[in-house]
Amino acid sequence: MKCILLALVLLSTVTLRAADEPAAKWWAHIVFLANDSMNGRDTGSPEHRKAAEYIAAEFKKAGLEPGGTNGYFQPIKFRSRKIVEEKSSLSLVTAGGVVEPVVLGEEATFSMRIEPAASVEAPIVFAGYGLQIPEAKHDDLAGLDVKGKIVMLLTGGPSTIPGPLLAHYQSIRWQYLKKAGALGTFSIQNPKGQDIPWDRSKLSRFMPAVAIADPALDETLGQQVAVTINAAKADKFFTGSGHSFKELLALSNDGKVLPRFTVPLTARVKVAIDAKALESDNVIGILRGTDPTLKAEYVMISAHIDHVGVGEPINGDRIYNGAMDNASGIATLIETASALAANHTNQRSIVFVAVTAEEKGLLGSRYFANRPTMPARSIVADLNTDMFLPLFPLKSLVVQGLEESDLANDLKRVARPLGIEVLSDPEPERNAFIRSDQYSFIKTGVPALSLKVGFVKNSAEHEIVKRWRTERYHAPSDDLAQPIDRKAAEDFGQIYVLLVEAVANRATRPAWNENSFFKRFAR
Ligand SMILES: [Zn+2]
Repeated sequence: MKCILLALVLLSTVTLRAADEPAAKWWAHIVFLANDSMNGRDTGSPEHRKAAEYIAAEFKKAGLEPGGTNGYFQPIKFRSRKIVEEKSSLSLVTAGGVVEPVVLGEEATFSMRIEPAASVEAPIVFAGYGLQIPEAKHDDLAGLDVKGKIVMLLTGGPSTIPGPLLAHYQSIRWQYLKKAGALGTFSIQNPKGQDIPWDRSKLSRFMPAVAIADPALDETLGQQVAVTINAAKADKFFTGSGHSFKELLALSNDGKVLPRFTVPLTARVKVAIDAKALESDNVIGILRGTDPTLKAEYVMISAHIDHVGVGEPINGDRIYNGAMDNASGIATLIETASALAANHTNQRSIVFVAVTAEEKGLLGSRYFANRPTMPARSIVADLNTDMFLPLFPLKSLVVQGLEESDLANDLKRVARPLGIEVLSDPEPERNAFIRSDQYSFIKTGVPALSLKVGFVKNSAEHEIVKRWRTERYHAPSDDLAQPIDRKAAEDFGQIYVLLVEAVANRATRPAWNENSFFKRFAR
């Protein structure tokens, strides 16, 4: 987003003055948070801090009590890592000693989400999806020796396993690979589940990755290697194995279990990093409940503040503004807070949590869910919005977590009278269930929903969303110049307020469904 910014700011201010309608207020927050001077609100940046201060000021204006450890803020210590690619290398060595270099960026990238070992030399074993799911009687590691090896895997899983269960086990994959003695992973992303084409996603490898400094909350501990392989160039990694990537991908796309086998190659890995300490804040405001008993229970309303900052230029633009991802969700959070505070009819307390470091792996929400500023048991639900994409009229909502808890009833009760349909995720292969902050709450036993403007699979609206992801998702063009359906944003905001109110005032504490896998995490 470049020079049209000033014009937009002026235009938006004029609109705001002329008509105080909800969409204009919502948009004004986005203009503040996602204009070029905010440099994409990267975790730990001064602009992220500025965004956090803006949100705290809005919470105060709405009349929320501070709910952090330092006023409205909950500061978190992080470690930030960046690759020094010119000092890093990856090669494959055949049994005969032939060294085949891998072109970084084109064929594979190193993930900085882990603390990589400076150098590793280890055999490679292909472990299918690399999954162990006892509930589905699925075990890719059965009879396979992965000790001291690098586990190569294809993301996804057999189609017989329900989406949320599959997504959950993929997210904790390292826990059981570590237990089995693996050194690290080579992941091949199934192109079917990828929002961003490789040519674009490879550019993000130079952006810093971040981990929570407290090792108790670092889920990647012990992983020495994490490589992502370009699916289009994956065959190189199967040389001499008697298998082609095409064959494996076809099996996966048919929803089948994958073969597992040793690859007659040794990986030679060298990684140099540039690391530093960072601090960044969650922002927390509380609207106290009106009921003497129920006010001791807390309904969380979450959205992430951060985006990915300044990166490699695309069409000459380096600023990844993150207007929809997720200034839009923060704007909805602020407007929900001010609407509910004005009514103040909520019996339970409502906690507005604007979290940091979502783009780094849901870290701010993980920190809050594990180090809450109120008793953990008193947190009864989380409602989340992340990039809800008001690109066309709101006729339905696509909801993560709908099958898991009775929060679904609250949503249906408020949506139906408005003629809004409530839909399950039509694209479970994207793992959206584990890709935003609601999942941090789910993992600590709190029932949660995350909502977006809905669409039916393969509809014209679905095409609009897919195009948006390919072109604008995590690109500099997710900016203030993109076309937005403001009426849809307004309708979404209205239904969100009704949902929060319904959950805050329901008679019973939200409950997991009897058959939900996630019930076991309940405290
Ligand atoms: Zn997001």
